[in-house]
Amino acid sequence: MPSTLTGSEQAAEQYVSSVYESVIRRNPHESEFHQAVKEILDSLIPVFARHPKYMKHGILERIVEPERMITFRVPWVDDNGNVQVNRGFRVQFNSAIGPYKGGLRFHPSVNASIIKFLGFEQIFKNSLTGQPIGGGKGGSDFDPKGKSDREIMRFTQSFMTELYKYIGPDEDVPAGDIGVGAREIGYMFGQYKRIRGGYEAGVLTGKGIVYGGSLTRTEATGYGCVYFVNEMLESRGLSFQGSTVVVSGSGNVSIYAMDKATQLGAKVVACSDSDGYVYDPHGINLNTVKRLKEIERKRIREYVDEHPHAVYTEGCQGIWSLPCDIALPCATQNEIDADSAKMLVENGVKAVGEGANMPSTLEAIDVFLKNRVLFGPAKAANAGGVAVSALEMSQNSMRQSWTFEEVDAKLHSIMKNIYQNSVKASEAYGLPGNLVAGANIAGFVRVAEAMLAQGVV
Ligand code: GLU
Repeated sequence: MPSTLTGSEQAAEQYVSSVYESVIRRNPHESEFHQAVKEILDSLIPVFARHPKYMKHGILERIVEPERMITFRVPWVDDNGNVQVNRGFRVQFNSAIGPYKGGLRFHPSVNASIIKFLGFEQIFKNSLTGQPIGGGKGGSDFDPKGKSDREIMRFTQSFMTELYKYIGPDEDVPAGDIGVGAREIGYMFGQYKRIRGGYEAGVLTGKGIVYGGSLTRTEATGYGCVYFVNEMLESRGLSFQGSTVVVSGSGNVSIYAMDKATQLGAKVVACSDSDGYVYDPHGINLNTVKRLKEIERKRIREYVDEHPHAVYTEGCQGIWSLPCDIALPCATQNEIDADSAKMLVENGVKAVGEGANMPSTLEAIDVFLKNRVLFGPAKAANAGGVAVSALEMSQNSMRQSWTFEEVDAKLHSIMKNIYQNSVKASEAYGLPGNLVAGANIAGFVRVAEAMLAQGVV
């Protein structure tokens, strides 16, 4: 421990490490959850040093423990008549500032660690949006890849037949994440409505526009990420105009990040899926990606059949070796490790905006911060999706729907606020330029104050 630490800083550091050790002890083998907790806890040391009241009231001990974690069996019958069994999860992590809110992920990698890391991050992300939403997350190890539409429907109906017991417009409001889009939300909403026997539109967000969805929700995460990065760029007199951008992924977040970056005058030269990436020196043709991914549900390698000047490379890591001004990781957790981060820095990257949840490892974040790369952490940069989900809940409560322009303007101002609040918090705690700390601190303080006010619950 460096001798420059004051007594209160030393006490805060000891407190934080003892909580972190107990998280590791009580949640063995949950490496993603440990990683998410470590990132937050390290940022909070200066907060505890300045406000010992948070230590006294056990805020940290309580915040790392989910209020509730539900796991359940999801049996369904495939098209060949075979019984399949998947595992369903919902973590209801924190309800200090509003009903639990967060997406559902359907992916074979889903387990308790993944759901808990996502749910934990969601607490602070949701707080940062300024909206009244607590933190939750859920999903299943179900693999939607290669499943027929009827199989998807049977699975989602079975999933909801158990999940409906735990959710509701004022209790817990799920939405999409990896593997869960408009189609899955539609099937789940239909099943929920059928079981409940009433039209509770606000129980899910990301709904279709014709039955209570919000305009701009589809675009919100990708657009929001670009709005956030734009704020960072402006702080150094830079912009998207004329810049070269690499965006990983080709799902909902990635597609609308590419869309907005292109609208702002950038050239997006690469995107990817879990098999590999395409590099298109002419700029990625978004119509092709949208059709391949959203309609035909095909692999990104097929892009080059229509655009022969583009190059497809098997494997995902190589995308970060492409020279670019701005990198937007919009695929999945831990997709940028320290080596990829170093490569991006060597190639002159100026800004990184995390569209996915926790796409950079702790070591990669270190590389970006040490090299003064503008770094927009996920909790801040990808909060636009859940922010517009909260706006969808508002519209459902009012039985009204706002125009695309209205919602987009609200999203834009929410992203600006998140940026400014993160900057202010980083400066207030002597860490200017460190938006990881800024976002973590700003997100934490709102939840901690609400927890303090509500007593030990
Ligand atoms: N899955 C998204 C996220 O990671 C959106 C959640 C929501 O809209 O509730 O924030």
